[in-house]
Amino acid sequence: MTVNENSKPLLTVKGLKQYFKVSNTYTVHAVENVSFQIYPGETYGLVGESGSGKSTIGRSIIRLYDPTAGEINFNGMDISGKINKANSQALRTQMQMIFQDPMASLNPRKKVRDIIGEGLDIHHMYKTRAEREEKIKNILAKVGLAPEHAGRYPHQFSGGQRQRVGIARALIMNPKLIIADECISALDVSIQAQVVNLMKDIQQETGTAYLFIAHDLSVVRHISHRIGVMYLGTMVELAESFELNRHPLHPYSQTLLSAVPVPDPEVSRRRNRIVLEGDIPSPMNPPSGCRFHTRCPYAMDKCKECVPEFKEYEKGHWVACHLLEK
Ligand code: SF4
Repeated sequence: MTVNENSKPLLTVKGLKQYFKVSNTYTVHAVENVSFQIYPGETYGLVGESGSGKSTIGRSIIRLYDPTAGEINFNGMDISGKINKANSQALRTQMQMIFQDPMASLNPRKKVRDIIGEGLDIHHMYKTRAEREEKIKNILAKVGLAPEHAGRYPHQFSGGQRQRVGIARALIMNPKLIIADECISALDVSIQAQVVNLMKDIQQETGTAYLFIAHDLSVVRHISHRIGVMYLGTMVELAESFELNRHPLHPYSQTLLSAVPVPDPEVSRRRNRIVLEGDIPSPMNPPSGCRFHTRCPYAMDKCKECVPEFKEYEKGHWVACHLLEK
């Protein structure tokens, strides 16, 4: 799918900053001036190492955190500041989240029927018990589980099945956007593919948009229409998935792509794997200028002083790097 940027965005994030004060002296600059949009029916991938701020962005959007600065607009509602009751209600149904660890995010004392039905109960989304049961049965079928699974507890499922329950719980609210935060990272590789395919099928059927957050580019690129690459709280590149794979422009994206396994051993042998030195710096004391300069093989003097502007160098392909400035 090519994203139709002429259609109205479902989600607009503009200049988002998310800081956390950890003591009188220290503040974690988890997200710094990040902007992007997600269109209806799109899968937008956010990729980066642990500590890059990608999960914080997801949590700020769904308002688990109050943004320090910036604007978040979802489906025509300004949800960045104080949210009124009507918008809060709409937000809780139209935006859902799937978490990394289904065992930790599903109440072990509740049967799947009540885990999935909880949102329906809170928002009074059925008239009779029979209607509630019917909705639960239908959603279980949609995620490939049987009606009898409704009467079981989370510990009676495999990891992949538990994540299907997590997806069903999100899906039953008929959301316009699902934020999937590392939702397949804890699963075996073969199960990851099943869950990704299930999410794609659901999107075809329902038109739900996804914000798909993961550290592994090899996974993100198979599901995403566009991908934003994060490094230490900043977005360094944004492009359509195909374009990013074919022609990454930012040195950090090139590093991530060079680490993606390729099935052909000959191609793999000839490929130039770029290995970054050192660890990602602390977001409590991020480097000046370009935050990547302490690890970038092409860093110049200018990179230590000036923050590179996030600019569109080719249509739909945005990058923040001094190397590209003429
Ligand atoms: Fe590397 Fe400089 Fe580009 Fe940053 S701005 S990615 S340090 S070349």
